[in-house]
Amino acid sequence: MEEQLKELKELKEQALAKIKEATNVKELNEVRVAYLGKKGPITDLLKGMGKLPAEERPKMGALVNVIRETVTEVLEERMAKLEEEAINEQLSKEAIDVTLPGRPARTGNHHPLTRVVEEIEDFFISMGYEIAEGPEVEKDYYNFEALNLPKGHPARDMQDSFYISEEVLLRTHTSPVQARTMEAKGGESIKIICPGKVYRRDNDDATHSHQFTQIEGLVVGEDIRMSDLKGTLDLFAKKMFGADREIRLRPSFFPFTEPSVEMDISCFKCGGDGCNVCKKTGWIEILGAGMVHPNVLKMAGYDPETVSGFAFGMGPERIAMLKYGVEDIRQFYTNDVRFISQFHRTEA
Ligand SMILES: [Zn+2]
Repeated sequence: MEEQLKELKELKEQALAKIKEATNVKELNEVRVAYLGKKGPITDLLKGMGKLPAEERPKMGALVNVIRETVTEVLEERMAKLEEEAINEQLSKEAIDVTLPGRPARTGNHHPLTRVVEEIEDFFISMGYEIAEGPEVEKDYYNFEALNLPKGHPARDMQDSFYISEEVLLRTHTSPVQARTMEAKGGESIKIICPGKVYRRDNDDATHSHQFTQIEGLVVGEDIRMSDLKGTLDLFAKKMFGADREIRLRPSFFPFTEPSVEMDISCFKCGGDGCNVCKKTGWIEILGAGMVHPNVLKMAGYDPETVSGFAFGMGPERIAMLKYGVEDIRQFYTNDVRFISQFHRTEA
């Protein structure tokens, strides 16, 4: 009995020491299994009580129970503490430092050409125009013939073309959309702009590209006059380049308009005194325009005796280069993020 009591006491001290040593929940669970489990020494002692004399059994049993309760109690306390520590450690690992500077979210922005095209579209939509589109792979008929450029016409040489077959080519301007629209409208009045890509057999350099963008406009109806064209272009110049812009029209030649003009605006940089942007002239060439040629109206089924129209065409690349001071047209097409992320739409 004496010996067993001593053994019990040692067992208790041993278990308490192990509980103290456990540094995490897993280790403590191992201690629980080792000392209190079904195969542990305390259970063994209880099982072995049958061998003791009958009078000693109650005392021994009570003592073993007290030890088991004590060990269990100490272990539960330690377990609660270790679990709390584990949670705190987890929380501190996941803590968010609200004083750290934020990571900026990089937002995309529209390509400078897209911006200019949209700005031009917005202006003309506000004037009651509709946007018309057409195929980039076009029939020779719509690209040239319907625009008063029959085969063999010398002006075809002005636009070196990419032919796909004898009758099909990559459109050299967005004018075929005008021809298609007139044909489809069958005599009704028209007020459209045609933005889109066009292609010419040019060698790429700082001011030329084999593919570029064009926006053309067409108005057809009764009593459309040159003064309507001039008023429209004047408003457009003021919207795109500033309210104090003036315009001037110079005689020019296009096969699909008669008379034809080039429109210049007063230089927005020097105001007309002469600088490098306007090449010391005070004026900057912006677009070509004119009154729709009677032959073009006739080919589309309109009667030039009762209706008239005006048309204009411009290059958004040129306008973007002027507005943003870009010196090489190729920068619009190389998609260098450092270049294209610099542009923000300007509201005039
Ligand atoms: Zn100037």
